[in-house]
Amino acid sequence: MDNILRGQLNDYPVRFFFANTTVSVEELRRIHNCTATASAAAGRILTAAMIMGVMLKAENDKLSLIINGNGPIGKIVVTSDSCGRGKCDIENPNIDVLVNEAGKLDVAKAIGEGKMTIIRDMGLKAPYNSTTELISSEIAEDIAYYYAVSEQIPTVCSLGVLVEKDNSITCAGGYLIQVMPNCDEEVIDYLETRIKEIPPITEMLKNNMSQTDIIDKIFGEGNYKYKIEQNIEPRYFCDCNYDKAERIIKSLGKKELGDILNKNEDLELKCHFCNKTYNFGIDQIKTFLD
Ligand SMILES: [Zn+2]
Repeated sequence: MDNILRGQLNDYPVRFFFANTTVSVEELRRIHNCTATASAAAGRILTAAMIMGVMLKAENDKLSLIINGNGPIGKIVVTSDSCGRGKCDIENPNIDVLVNEAGKLDVAKAIGEGKMTIIRDMGLKAPYNSTTELISSEIAEDIAYYYAVSEQIPTVCSLGVLVEKDNSITCAGGYLIQVMPNCDEEVIDYLETRIKEIPPITEMLKNNMSQTDIIDKIFGEGNYKYKIEQNIEPRYFCDCNYDKAERIIKSLGKKELGDILNKNEDLELKCHFCNKTYNFGIDQIKTFLD
């Protein structure tokens, strides 16, 4: 079972989110039939978006994280919500397996150079929208850079996906730690050093460390006391349905609907997020024209 722990330090303005998203990333891989490098890239983005979704305030708020680079994987769109539900659309999930000099799956090369856009839809007229450059295309650094530049919040972010030889997901997860204003320099210095000392997130998850084990590993040495405020169960979830598919077809113009009818074939609409298909017969499409 996946989970995201949300908490904060008792004596300092530091909040954190620790996520295990192994099941969700495996579901993403299964739906899109991803190659290893595509799983690593999209899995990191899904994990980041799930954590950022949980940070939203109201139940109906939604977040979209869009990574648009010039690499072979193309555009990746993840939509998430405050309950930890997320879904992902990948332009090219079957890219070649790319490995970097360190022998790791080369997410940066798969994504390439480009931009990251975050859209927060909080039910207002205009959703909040912010775009930053990708500074490394490894995703975690790009998320930290986004918070530093767009929201002036010093942030530590780590994301990881480990893929088996048969392409299934061994483990996936990540964490995000944010230092709010007026925090002691001592805590910031400690965090900066400690994060470099601990093993990568995938190694800790692979060794069956729970999120609290990992939180203890980061804050325990410095004897920082913390409290867990929420335990959320994230999951891969698509909210498409027949009514939404029908609305998309109805929103097509008269000309497009006419073209579809001229082909005299039933219409199949496929959801990019979950691959579910919705079929519409000719007679049904005719009624949409009226
Ligand atoms: Zn769907």
